[in-house]
Amino acid sequence: DAKAQGRGRVCVFDPAMEARFQHRRWLEHELREALRTQAIAVHYQPLIDLRTDEVCAFEALSRWTHPERGPISPGEFIPLAEEVGLIDTLGEYVLRRACADAVAWPSRVRVAVNVSPNQFRHDGLCGVVASALADSGLPGRRLELEVTESVVLADDSGVFDKLHELRGLGIRFSMDDFGTGYSSLSSLRSFPFDKIKLDRSFLQDSLTRSECATIVRIVGDLGGSLRMTTTAEGVETLEQLEFLRAHGFSEAQGFLFGRAMPADEALALIARWRTPRAA
Ligand code: C2E
Ligand code: MG
Ligand code: MG
Ligand code: MG
Repeated sequence: DAKAQGRGRVCVFDPAMEARFQHRRWLEHELREALRTQAIAVHYQPLIDLRTDEVCAFEALSRWTHPERGPISPGEFIPLAEEVGLIDTLGEYVLRRACADAVAWPSRVRVAVNVSPNQFRHDGLCGVVASALADSGLPGRRLELEVTESVVLADDSGVFDKLHELRGLGIRFSMDDFGTGYSSLSSLRSFPFDKIKLDRSFLQDSLTRSECATIVRIVGDLGGSLRMTTTAEGVETLEQLEFLRAHGFSEAQGFLFGRAMPADEALALIARWRTPRAA
């Protein structure tokens, strides 16, 4: 077969691979165009403070609806943007939008923006964040940056210094998708995180799998002991919400409370908010 004939020799034409390659090229082109024309929207999903039962923050999530293909998931276009070098442009766009939108919210409501590992590799990040705050007038303490542990694992690129520089602007850091990587715990110890966001897979299985329930409980305790804020993402049922309350979680986010919505709907939601309760 092809492999036996030596490395680097491609002897077999694979139509499926060719189709994937064409699709990717097309998607890259369309994404560039969408960024150029600002066709990507930023929507906001509420985070609920479990002590006050108020909306305490919104997470900014990119939304792309292609004119012919319809909605394209961030799970598809974010990794592509990273691969083809468009994530800085997209990231700065989302950040500026998020800061500008959040200024209209009550000052106790923060905005959380996802930052990709590649954005941390570039020296411009701190400057971009500072300028987004200055241009919008949003105080740094109202901005949270969500990073995954893969960001801090690439610590050859001065990530530690960048986190501290951004902290100097009052910005807080959340470790996103906590528990899914290899070294979440050691990253928590070495880097200045303020918040743990437990990955939604644990909560989803917590009512049917006892080891997931145990993990939820332990992360609640861990956050309490480390004086960190704990958020669970993916809350879909009242049962899950009560489980989180019982284990001392500070915040919750999920479809039970609301999906990501446009900025004006987010603003309207704050005032009329009622946390769902068991009857
Ligand atoms: P993430 O940062 O962990 O964001 C949470 C994801 O979980 C969002 O998916 C959200 O819609 C989804 N989610 C929230 N609550 C529930 C729930 O109750 N049930 C279920 N099934 N899902 C829930 P989304 O918007 O598709 O985004 C996927 C990922 O794409 C995000 O995961 C984030 O890593 C990335 N992403 C999205 N927008 C951006 C962006 O502007 N910049 C960067 N760097 N990444 C982004
Ligand atoms: Mg996130
Ligand atoms: Mg997350
Ligand atoms: Mg996640």
